[in-house]
Amino acid sequence: MPLYQPRHNLADGTLCSEGDAMTLLRPGSGWIEVITGPMFSGKSEELIRRLRRAAIARLRLQVFKPALDDRYAKKEIVSHSRWRIPSVAIEGSEEVLEKLDPRTEVVGIDEAQFLDEKLPGVCSHLADLGKRVIVAGLDMDYRGVPFGPMPELLAIAEQVQKITAICARCGAPASYTQRLVPSRERVVVGAEDVYEARCRRCHEPEGAVAVENPWLFEPVEENGEGDALG
Ligand code: ADP
Ligand code: ZN
Repeated sequence: MPLYQPRHNLADGTLCSEGDAMTLLRPGSGWIEVITGPMFSGKSEELIRRLRRAAIARLRLQVFKPALDDRYAKKEIVSHSRWRIPSVAIEGSEEVLEKLDPRTEVVGIDEAQFLDEKLPGVCSHLADLGKRVIVAGLDMDYRGVPFGPMPELLAIAEQVQKITAICARCGAPASYTQRLVPSRERVVVGAEDVYEARCRRCHEPEGAVAVENPWLFEPVEENGEGDALG
């Protein structure tokens, strides 16, 4: 008898590397994994890594991202370190179900914070169908406010990995996204030119706005639409 016996050898050969929760899941059943954290924390890299491993295991994949996020490419997920994997652009979360091939075994979704409130229900349905659903997205916007469908998704997921970047100011682990341009729109799409990672101590939720427009420095209105971003 070997001293160490793996509890489950999942279809793609993963043992424990993707989190303890996965070792508790039965092969063949569906589940939801969420990868979250601030910008530059490696969410897309981690998503791409998991999807590549699934592809190596010859599992059938479908990968989606919101059409809004076309910073680098419309038909690919591209990390800040330029790792890439083909993806399909969608306008709303229900398009995942419309475009779903019944034979698909693994569904990847990037930049989930930009999708609508139906995303948790869509992911739950996919998991009920037996799919492994891997979702990456920002947990908070540039003010530190929970972002779009992410809080509910984090609550219903079987497994969550919250990762940090490196604070651009002090080098500490960073959980916040600092906006560097003066805008109160919730969504201002950009990368190094618009955002940097910051730790709690260095994060200035209203930083750029306050410096450029001191007369704008007042409580942010929660009016539902046109919220301010991430
Ligand atoms: P995310 O999807 O979370 O925005 P990506 O996977 O696209 O992150 O990019 C992660 C990569 O970004 C890192 O591997 C590193 O090469 C690069 N990077 C740039 N700035 C930082 C930072 N402040 N902290 C950590 N990684 C950074
Ligand atoms: Zn810092």
